Amino acid sequence: MSTVSQPPSAPAGPAGEFLHDFLLAAARHTPDAPAVIESPRPGATTVTTYAELGALVDAYADGLGALDIETGSRVVLESDTTAPAVAALLACSRAGLTFVPVSPETPRQRLESILATARPALHLQAADGTRTGLPPTTGTARFGPDGLTVDRAPGPHRPRRRVPCVTDPAYIIFTSGTTGRPKGVVMSHRAVTAFYRGMLAHRIAAPEDRVASTSPLQFDFSLLNIGLALGSGAAVVPVPPQLVRWPRHLLRVLRETGATQVNGVPSIWRQPLRYEPERLAALDRLRSVLFCGEEFPLPELRRLQELLPAARIINCYGATESMAASFEDVPRPLPDDVERLSIGVAHPGAEMLLVDASGTVVDRPGVPGEIHLRSPALFSGYWDDPEATRAALVPDPLCPQSGQVVLRTGDLAVRGEDGAFFFRGRTDSQVQINGNRVELAEVERRLTEFPGAAAATALALPLPDGGLELAAFVVPGAGRTPPDAGALREFCAAALPPYMVPQQIQLLDALPVTANGKVDRAALADAAARAV
Ligand code: ADP
Repeated sequence: MSTVSQPPSAPAGPAGEFLHDFLLAAARHTPDAPAVIESPRPGATTVTTYAELGALVDAYADGLGALDIETGSRVVLESDTTAPAVAALLACSRAGLTFVPVSPETPRQRLESILATARPALHLQAADGTRTGLPPTTGTARFGPDGLTVDRAPGPHRPRRRVPCVTDPAYIIFTSGTTGRPKGVVMSHRAVTAFYRGMLAHRIAAPEDRVASTSPLQFDFSLLNIGLALGSGAAVVPVPPQLVRWPRHLLRVLRETGATQVNGVPSIWRQPLRYEPERLAALDRLRSVLFCGEEFPLPELRRLQELLPAARIINCYGATESMAASFEDVPRPLPDDVERLSIGVAHPGAEMLLVDASGTVVDRPGVPGEIHLRSPALFSGYWDDPEATRAALVPDPLCPQSGQVVLRTGDLAVRGEDGAFFFRGRTDSQVQINGNRVELAEVERRLTEFPGAAAATALALPLPDGGLELAAFVVPGAGRTPPDAGALREFCAAALPPYMVPQQIQLLDALPVTANGKVDRAALADAAARAV
């Protein structure tokens, strides 16, 4: 079993500011401790120790090094979260390459759009990955227990970089974008490790913890979980996405792996609370739950507290552009008169402030404003999109002369009397569907690409049992055969991830408009409510 050693080519950067250095520190101190615990099938729990993870990182980094890819190039990492996948992303970091995580469930068209945008040198998937037909300009390789297998070597390049730098992108996460193109959030090594430091100051996990991560690798929530676990010297327990959807399977994995913490979007709890409350309450090793991505419907949260009375529940607020911004313990038990959860204040090292529509900083309690985040953990920019970057990274409203930029989040909030923040919705039409970020404009754009569809509006409608569902209204083009809802849904599914495919689609002769000529979204919401 090998411990982690720095290869001779290791960058001479500030220690611990590279993602791999930060996350593999425990491999030097506690090589035999579990780093990744997996249980894809009943009775088949496997443990990868820190030393074993480090050895895999070494093997993959050697394999990547042998490909002689230019420092700073992108590697699309198509995988679910597994021990080898964690090693692969750390190996990219070690090799000075930027990883772009995508899910194996990503529709082909979306993957093609990501490939065309990110122009990666390499597509890397697990040994049993099934993706084929990748463009000839991209090298292809697989990672497995014995290292990397190269199917097609990346093309030659003219080397211009000498050493990796902590300001280089560690990863790019593609999220929904208003223009119809996925939007690439570029995070540097320095930003992500600064975020990890701020998060770890909250002492959310300890070395003996087993942190279940229910978020797919393509979302930065999974990188938060990996950072939380490995940065604490604890173990990460990746739950395969196909098991998260089934309460019995999810609870089995949690039981068999001895998970002490479960991290995921609030909707992962809906089915277990409804169908498996006894099994959920029997998870006696579970000490904490961290949720992120959207508000937790309070009736479900209260029920979760009843079933897990000893568990610490943490409301994590933030966006991919800074990984997250705050961690706030939910009062235990939640007082009856609480109507909204606090998102607290920014994590140590960062600060949130509110700015009103006129650009004035709001400091009185109860007055709404848009959250602006000052932090060493801000993203570098949207990949190849300077205009969107300028709109999100804006001059510090308190001191625009300084050249410092802050993140304009698009989130509205008010401050309570004690200074803590309360989320109050968005300034735009971005919504969260089961914790997944969706730009309604991206769904609308896809719908109007359908031959015969002239106009479309997408809405997120509240479900009776909490959460939101996507609904769409489509107007057929004059003189065209009206599209059929099933065909429209299939058309969306070919290019959009499942959570962006409208569950309800209605055809209308025209979209209702308000007095000032805008689409009347309220009237559409009423029409959708009447239709169910
Ligand atoms: P992440 O993957 O970090 O959760 P996304 O970039 O997918 O973030 O979505 C970010 C948006 O989700 C935020 O701007 C906010 O609107 C919403 N959000 C995230 N966490 C919370 C929370 N705890 N409570 C309310 N809304 C949240």
